[in-house]
Amino acid sequence: MEPNQSKSPMCPSCSKALLSRTATRCSWCGSVIPDELRFTDEEIERAEEELKKSSEAIDRKENERKIRDGKRSMIETAFELTIGTIINLIKKS
Ligand SMILES: [Zn+2]
Repeated sequence: MEPNQSKSPMCPSCSKALLSRTATRCSWCGSVIPDELRFTDEEIERAEEELKKSSEAIDRKENERKIRDGKRSMIETAFELTIGTIINLIKKS
């Protein structure tokens, strides 16, 4: 919703917004991303558990249809965005 999300982390090397908070390297320039800008394994694990719970409520057929349509990468992107959202929620609480 907010275009200027100050929270969104940037690569210290190329100053572009990090596309992935789980990758060890910047998607743009390939520099190693400092640990403090990445989600920890523990955070990812927790988020995946939360996501597993919530995904049971999601219409599975819709997901299957998207995969058949070759939109798997979109789902993966959504998955990572969702993880980011959940981790932010966990951190706030
Ligand atoms: Zn970079």
